[in-house]
Amino acid sequence: MKTKINTVQKNINLREFISSKLRQIYCTILFNWILHIKSKQIAVTEKTAIVFAPHQDDETFGCGGMIAIKRAKKVPVNVVFLTDGKRSIPEWIKPEEIIKIRQEEALTALNILGVAASATHFLGHGDATLTQLSHEERRLIITQLSELLKAYKPEEIYLPHRKDRHLDHEATYNLVKDAIALSNLNVEIFQYPVWILWQNPLSSNLKLQEISGSYCISIHTVQDQKKQAIASYKSQITTLPPGFLTRFLSPYEIFIKS
Ligand SMILES: [Zn+2]
Repeated sequence: MKTKINTVQKNINLREFISSKLRQIYCTILFNWILHIKSKQIAVTEKTAIVFAPHQDDETFGCGGMIAIKRAKKVPVNVVFLTDGKRSIPEWIKPEEIIKIRQEEALTALNILGVAASATHFLGHGDATLTQLSHEERRLIITQLSELLKAYKPEEIYLPHRKDRHLDHEATYNLVKDAIALSNLNVEIFQYPVWILWQNPLSSNLKLQEISGSYCISIHTVQDQKKQAIASYKSQITTLPPGFLTRFLSPYEIFIKS
């Protein structure tokens, strides 16, 4: 019986290993295809910006290089975290400590990228709840976001891709878009992909229009800074699927205009 269980376990592990490898290969091909064929290279501007992130780490993965380049030129960049990130708990952290740890990691990462604590905003909404909000809760968050927009009047906004294959990420896109409309702000909007390229090639339903209007920026000059900022997220990098981080260590970042 034990031998049979061991064989089943081995088959599952092998299947998971192959599936993970296929994902990594597919993600690398997709990223490079968008980067070299589908996107137009642009320079990082000196326009003020707000980066909206559902969780503490998305801003660094998706926009860490852009943030560091702008901050090196003293361009104001604010970062807003919508959720408290409490659902991602590695075994070695007590659940009641995770919110504090993730905030500290975010402050460390952003400090490396040149963003002060005073420009970092933790809204503290429940992790994994952004698609389950009541009408009133949704209205309150949109008001909160539009007040931030009115206060800082950014010229550029960075937010997760509208089809990022993660409920909080897609909800963040929709909430921020509604807040922009409410605040009557004339602003350039860039979507940053985090999960959308991390697909199972056998069941991928990525559509071409989802990556049309892609731009890329070179982050060669700040690549080490981004790498260090990613390393600050100690509680998270161990929970990510193998190979997931590789693409975020690239000397390029991809954005899709909204
Ligand atoms: Zn996230």
